[in-house]
Amino acid sequence: MNWNELLKRQPAAVRVLQGGLQKERLPHAYIFEGEAGVPKEAAARLLGQAFLCEERTTVHPCGECSDCRRVLSGSHPDLLTIEPEGASIKKGQVEMLQKEFTYKGMESAKKVYLIHEAHRMTASAGNSLLKFLEEPEGETLAILLTENLHFLLDTIVSRAQVVTFAPLPEDERAEELKEQGYTNGQAALLARIADRATVEAQEEPGAWIVQAKTVVVQLTEEVQKRPQQVLLTLQEKWLPHFQDRKEQQIGLDLLLYWYRDVLYTKLKRLSLAYPDEVERLHEEALHTSEEKVSRQLEAILDAKRQLAANVNSQLLMERLLLRLQEGF
Ligand SMILES: [Zn+2]
Repeated sequence: MNWNELLKRQPAAVRVLQGGLQKERLPHAYIFEGEAGVPKEAAARLLGQAFLCEERTTVHPCGECSDCRRVLSGSHPDLLTIEPEGASIKKGQVEMLQKEFTYKGMESAKKVYLIHEAHRMTASAGNSLLKFLEEPEGETLAILLTENLHFLLDTIVSRAQVVTFAPLPEDERAEELKEQGYTNGQAALLARIADRATVEAQEEPGAWIVQAKTVVVQLTEEVQKRPQQVLLTLQEKWLPHFQDRKEQQIGLDLLLYWYRDVLYTKLKRLSLAYPDEVERLHEEALHTSEEKVSRQLEAILDAKRQLAANVNSQLLMERLLLRLQEGF
């Protein structure tokens, strides 16, 4: 990947990195923060290549010198990487890297190291890295990649420049999920759920999201057409499926996306969360108004806030379902 391709996907992050290269003044350490699937690693490798390239005159590495070629083939002796071994990055791994930098016959003074999933460093690995950051020898560039800045030692964060990568657009994220084996319908929903970790922690995330979707679709249909059924479905299907608060928040998110899809369908907008429910969405969109859907969305947002404030979830859902029915 080159800078122009990256610029299209991550303009803010790339401008920061190019700014550093242009001024020929990079910090000793960067932290690239962003969710799984954003091109943090591609950006880190490109930055490392630009840093090591001896022929570079602009922000772009030449692509042809021996430094560039070895970075591209993954065999540059001055570009080292660390990944978690098992669940964590251990102190020994950081020490090993430092030794390699110190003793190995290095060709130039420049060295780059990438630390994948830096939030998985144990505290002692973090402290060992910290010493390294405090006394950088020669021209050393550290790039730490992480999905969660808050799990890094504050002392490390304060010695690095943090570059934030924007989250993937929903449709791009859905494509990635499909590559991981999710169906179109599952991926479209999952891509929109902020708390994907809770879904992925289920025994069978794919089956869980399908069941969640079935419950949401059934409930919205009853709100519209069979209000006398609503409380029964709440008891028998909704409450057993969305059990703890995190799952209940996801349930409300899914409900929110349903009504947003109804609105999108009325407005003929694309990018649906329920792409395989188009017929029902059309049918519901025909029988409602924008104003009504707006009120429904507002009711769900209120419920989300109340749930966060620990209101009893059954009472909260009963009240919400009444509000959703108003006007049908
Ligand atoms: Zn080069």
